[in-house]
Amino acid sequence: MTELCGAFHPERPAIVCDRPEHGGTGFHRSRADGVVWEAAALPSARRAGRQGLAALAVSARRAHRTGGAAAAVERWREERSR
Ligand SMILES: [Zn+2]
Repeated sequence: MTELCGAFHPERPAIVCDRPEHGGTGFHRSRADGVVWEAAALPSARRAGRQGLAALAVSARRAHRTGGAAAAVERWREERSR
């Protein structure tokens, strides 16, 4: 038999997550009540402040890079020459 998560809804304790055990990640869901709620973030994602901002910056930079390496270098040159 599959273990269920069993996490309580933070605002509605009568509602319990009936997803199979998912390590408390992602989201909780009660199929019976038709409710989905956010699960506690992973400890690594919960870091606030500097590290969180750094992570954001990294992901933003990654998004910026979608034009490929050559385009990124080009953009970097343009920014420097201003
Ligand atoms: Zn759950």
